[in-house]
Amino acid sequence: MPASSEAPPLTRAPKPVPKPGILDIHAYTPGKATVDGVADPVKLSSNENILGSSPLARAAFVAAVDSLHMYPDGQASALRAAVAAHFSLEPERLVFGDGSDELLHLLNQVFIEPGDNIVMGQYGFSAYSIGARACQGEVRHAAEPNYKMSGEEILAQVDDRTRLVFITQPANPTGTFLTRDELEALHAGLRSDVVLVLDGAYAEFATDPRFDVGMDLARGHDNVVVTRTFSKLHGLAALRIGWAYCPEPIADAVDRIRAPFNTSIAAQQAAVAALADVEFQERSREHVATWRPWLTQQLGGLGLEVVPSQANFVLVEFPTTPGRTSTEAEAFLASRGLIVRGVSSYGLPAHLRITIGLEEHNRAVVDALSDFLKA
Ligand SMILES: *Cc1c(COP(=O)(O)O)cnc(C)c1O
Repeated sequence: MPASSEAPPLTRAPKPVPKPGILDIHAYTPGKATVDGVADPVKLSSNENILGSSPLARAAFVAAVDSLHMYPDGQASALRAAVAAHFSLEPERLVFGDGSDELLHLLNQVFIEPGDNIVMGQYGFSAYSIGARACQGEVRHAAEPNYKMSGEEILAQVDDRTRLVFITQPANPTGTFLTRDELEALHAGLRSDVVLVLDGAYAEFATDPRFDVGMDLARGHDNVVVTRTFSKLHGLAALRIGWAYCPEPIADAVDRIRAPFNTSIAAQQAAVAALADVEFQERSREHVATWRPWLTQQLGGLGLEVVPSQANFVLVEFPTTPGRTSTEAEAFLASRGLIVRGVSSYGLPAHLRITIGLEEHNRAVVDALSDFLKA
């Protein structure tokens, strides 16, 4: 080898180092998608729509092939008009994102400077905390007694450096929610300069009459944002498209820093079509409304504790007795081709989160866990 291609001598020159705190962040742990030795496993680990996606949305996605050479409309004008009409919202108060995940990150970027903090639930979604810590913010966790957010616990964590409070409505991974009254009381207890972010990723699956994702609260206040997504009800998780309903000054701030073409043409067009497919939305909602209570009741009948859920999944607690633990149950289900979600990364090592599947999947889960607990 010629001398010139030898490795350069080690120097004391400084190396690029991420800013403080970045390397303390644990990357998001996604739900598993494969099992060794199982050809076609059933994925019940990421709360995807088990019915797939709307035929109209699929057709719109296919048609978008003719626009591959084009930049998307950075204002997502057609989708903006469709969302505004569908939900009776002011179009100028909407911001679209590369999944609602991106909007959660952008909200942190807009509000958090080093030393500021966010408040979120003890079992809350890690996208909130990752986003805050990336801005060198701190994360304060509010206790969730009985797996449910509590307005009092949240307010007890708010201090003079709190800029954002994140509530998932209904929550992932617990499936619980704050009632309309609880939400209003929480908002009334917050300083007017703290932004209440209501993440409604699963809002469409809620059937409890006391549930309210908070659109009216957002409409009437300068410090409430609601985020929504096409990933869950509409089954468009692959396309990465979500939106936020914000007070106008917040929409304006987010618009200044987002990437100009953050949502693709295919995603925008499929989302417009999905929104128009009320039949698919109804079918998806009815499927969850039918099988969620069934799964809750059947698993309860096996002696397992199931947290009452308003989302398209259930959270199940397992004993700590060797042979009966959540880790062993997860492996047993996997051996039968059923992938569910271990949630120790959410602070729930004894629980599994199971997405509502098709009838045969739900029956297979119950049969497998019955055999597991008998073994
Ligand atoms: C799935 C999910 C979302 C949606 O994320 P997208 O980026 O829109 O796919 C948001 N929040 C929570 C809590 C979720 O579980």
